[in-house]
Amino acid sequence: MKNALKPELFRELPSVDEVVRMPDLVALAAANGVAAVTDAARAVLARLRGEISSGLLDSTALQLALGGLAGAIEEQLRRALGHSLQPVINATGVILHTNLGRAPLAEAALAHIRETAGTYSNLEFEIETGARGKRDVHVDRLFRRLLEDGDRAGSEGLRPLRTAEAAVSTRVDVATIVVNNNAAAVLLALNTLADGGEVIVSRGELVEIGGSFRIPDVMAKSGAVLREVGTTNRTRAADYETAINERTRLLLRVHRSNFEITGFTEQAATAELVALSRKHNLPLMEDLGSGALVDLQNFGISGEPSVLDSLRAGVDVVTYSGDKLLGGPQAGLISGRADLVARLRTNSLFRALRVDKLTYAALEATLLAYVKHDHDAIPTLKMMRLPKEEIGKRVEAVAKSVASVEKARPTVSSQSRKMKIKIIDGESVIGGGAAPSSVLPTRLLALSCADLSADELAARLRHSDPPIVARVEDGRVLLDLRTVFPDQDHCIAAVLDRIAM
Ligand SMILES: *Cc1c(COP(=O)(O)O)cnc(C)c1O
Repeated sequence: MKNALKPELFRELPSVDEVVRMPDLVALAAANGVAAVTDAARAVLARLRGEISSGLLDSTALQLALGGLAGAIEEQLRRALGHSLQPVINATGVILHTNLGRAPLAEAALAHIRETAGTYSNLEFEIETGARGKRDVHVDRLFRRLLEDGDRAGSEGLRPLRTAEAAVSTRVDVATIVVNNNAAAVLLALNTLADGGEVIVSRGELVEIGGSFRIPDVMAKSGAVLREVGTTNRTRAADYETAINERTRLLLRVHRSNFEITGFTEQAATAELVALSRKHNLPLMEDLGSGALVDLQNFGISGEPSVLDSLRAGVDVVTYSGDKLLGGPQAGLISGRADLVARLRTNSLFRALRVDKLTYAALEATLLAYVKHDHDAIPTLKMMRLPKEEIGKRVEAVAKSVASVEKARPTVSSQSRKMKIKIIDGESVIGGGAAPSSVLPTRLLALSCADLSADELAARLRHSDPPIVARVEDGRVLLDLRTVFPDQDHCIAAVLDRIAM
């Protein structure tokens, strides 16, 4: 029956021209432009046509929809002219959530972007001499400071790790350059140091990260030839040595960021590889991935080597991400022997992979926080350090505020969704392919609703403004406030209130 009515229903739809002449929309066009309003009208009418075709709208429903046409077009316009990229509340407890933009930036980083990016800056200009400068200096000087800093016996709390090999240390001149991300850093380093030659890598370190970064693929793109040695679980220094020949250009170690091999395993010690590289006069490169600048052992996170340690141990070139454990903007940093880094810099690929002033501003401010030992200023580091008890208090406050609203509500309890909120122990993770086996104890809000499935409840949370992203586990929705900024707690409470009604 519905199908028979379809042609008539289609005839009820006004034309785009008629719609944009509606008084409400004329005003809207004056403010936003006729073209934008026409596009929005077209989109809304197309949606209505689609709904008629698929039998979603009968005559009554269509009349209702047409009555709200101006409103629907205004809403469509608002969305079309609004931002697609928008803030969300990360209640997953995954600190470096790749899909949610990895590391939120420090206030100081945002302020420095604001201060330098809306005007001209000395990005590549030496103020002293008036000559052309290099953009590298803004980050290079701070990294040198960090390295020297760690060499002096550090002061309080979070100081960089010091290893037995510290003696090799900073007699070597270390330079740092910045490219678009760590994948670019690895590509640039391999292409510069090993194009046309062989690179020796352990079979246990041929990693894939995030589905699109595979060491063998990047190696192929760089023009270097991969020379695999050892087995997945055991590779000795002798395996590397046997594979060295006249075509060998580089020894490469890759940090197994996102997995662990346990059981019957063996990995050549960094000191052994350093000795080997010196003996054969071949550079040793390490793709660290994460780039911790402090000893994360203090945070309860083990197995993440620090950049400074690797350099002190005598690794010649280290590559790492700006937005993993470092907690800064997306970037790939390359720190290492100044003569090698200078070669990377003159590679024309560097020009293609370099970063802009926004990244330098954010990176400089983030590194300055490390220089000042102001680790709490870096949001990701602060989140890693949040004690379970503190998270527990915030979780209780949110649960309590929802419960009190629940009680104050006049008795329409038959309509209430009866949201159940429990507070349970759980674990937060680092994420971003870092420290796979490290978990941080936390307290969680576990939500369930009598008349909503966990997936439906999670969808409700995502459709709030700003969207709240939660974890669904065992038929419950779990909220971890470790990754929620404290000033967002009230927003979560308000949304839970609304859903609980
Ligand atoms: C994350 C990671 C990469 C890729 O870094 P991006 O900054 O995401 O490009 C490369 N190597 C290792 C070992 C990593 O952990």
